[in-house]
Amino acid sequence: MMLRDKLYIDGQWVAPSTSDTIDVHNAGTGEVMGKVPAAGERDIDAAVRAARRAFDSWSQRPVAERAEYLAKISAGIKQRGELLARTIAQEVGMPIKLSARIQAGLPMMTFSNYAKLAGEFPFEEKVGNSLVVRDPVGVVGAITPWNYPLHQIALKVAPALAAGCTVVLKPSEIAPFNAFILAEIVAEVGLPAGVFNLVTGFGPVVGEALVKHTDVDMISFTGSTRAGRRISELAAQMVKRVTLELGGKSASIILDDADLAAAVKGTVTNCYLNSGQTCTAFTRMLVPEAQYAEAKAIAADVARSFVPGDPLAETSRLGPLSSQMQLDRVRDYIKKGIAEGAELVTGGAEPPEAVAAGGYFVQPTVFGKVDPRSTIAQEEIFGPVLSIITYKDEDDAIRIANDTIYGLAGGVWSRDEARAQRVARRMRAGQIDVNGGPYNMNAPFGGFKQSGHGREAGKYGLEEFLEYKSLQLKP
Ligand code: NAD
Repeated sequence: MMLRDKLYIDGQWVAPSTSDTIDVHNAGTGEVMGKVPAAGERDIDAAVRAARRAFDSWSQRPVAERAEYLAKISAGIKQRGELLARTIAQEVGMPIKLSARIQAGLPMMTFSNYAKLAGEFPFEEKVGNSLVVRDPVGVVGAITPWNYPLHQIALKVAPALAAGCTVVLKPSEIAPFNAFILAEIVAEVGLPAGVFNLVTGFGPVVGEALVKHTDVDMISFTGSTRAGRRISELAAQMVKRVTLELGGKSASIILDDADLAAAVKGTVTNCYLNSGQTCTAFTRMLVPEAQYAEAKAIAADVARSFVPGDPLAETSRLGPLSSQMQLDRVRDYIKKGIAEGAELVTGGAEPPEAVAAGGYFVQPTVFGKVDPRSTIAQEEIFGPVLSIITYKDEDDAIRIANDTIYGLAGGVWSRDEARAQRVARRMRAGQIDVNGGPYNMNAPFGGFKQSGHGREAGKYGLEEFLEYKSLQLKP
């Protein structure tokens, strides 16, 4: 059992103001793996005050000094790589091999990348008779989800600290242990007191207290569109800056001249990453009508190769979902897809065979001939469920791809690179992978439409935590 009964506030581990706790479940077994504090408003207030007190001196430090701390945090993550990979494999359910590379590896690289970027970033610029300087926005409230828990945290904390902001982090109550490990690293590297604070608890309690706090200058949120909307409403009362990284329903357009096998395999693999619990997952696969039968057969084969298994086993390709709530939700969507008349190509709502009882496992599922306006084609399922949709021509494919309230990501596949890029440019989403182009940590990450606003990663992520200020100089 992992038992955490303290919060990290003002450079110290302190007892929370309440005795309430949150049970954290092991996704692979369903058992309680540990407990963390369900903190209250008073804890948020203490953390925000500490962050406020720390702000002046932290923001005045030379950038190179702040960068040095980031590099040390990155080294600390590297040192605890195995522990983090294991912890997150249990909290979230991602298979250990992927967890090591993505869940522990990416945050380590994000911190070191910001250590480097901070040194290169132009914090001031001369424009006519003005000196335009970039000031840190102030105290940042960071609220994060469970699916890539430490990655989402790193994408906020690293650039915020690089910019000169101080942070109060409210991580997901479903996967909070990795945040405690980060706080230990922060303490170990001697980050000045109050610069980073950790408060755990439920969204509507401590999350909202953080959003409403008058001393918080900005909220950086990643999570559901539902919570994002609520946070925007609350923040609007104080005209507080908000960045939102929300849900998605991304389309992978396979053009008629694509390498069909590679495109289908790439799409299914992308859709099933982290058991489909990825905001950018390609959950809609768009194929030309004439190639439907072939695409369907390939998709079924690829899907069946994702055998659900113990996330701690080296050979597992598909882990469980993260929680009972997720399991119920995903199975309901599968039932809904069948009820709405989509063709069930493989998978289904029944639990898969040969997995641990109690774990939140679901069958990798593919639906064919999905109506693009149906529920499973429109709503974010957040499970390993792919919808194949057929289209008539290129314009029809683009129209279907854009016919969603979301606009986070997408993919295009074609042997003609220029054609693929032309289609990619017409897709209304924040990042489009052309022929499976890989994630780039220096490219902006974020959404159009109800997938949110603001960008993370690279210099774009740093800019979110800065205010422009003009010093008008006498010529
Ligand atoms: P969630 O919205 O339920 O929770 C996210 C965080 O917000 C948690 O820390 C939660 O405690 C907090 N929260 C919930 N209600 C709140 C409120 N009223 N006020 C303040 N805080 C509140 O989302 P989740 O289930 O943890 O994550 C899944 C969602 O996150 C999916 O919709 C997914 O697409 C999205 N997501 C988006 C991105 C992205 O970058 N666009 C990345 C990962 C996940």
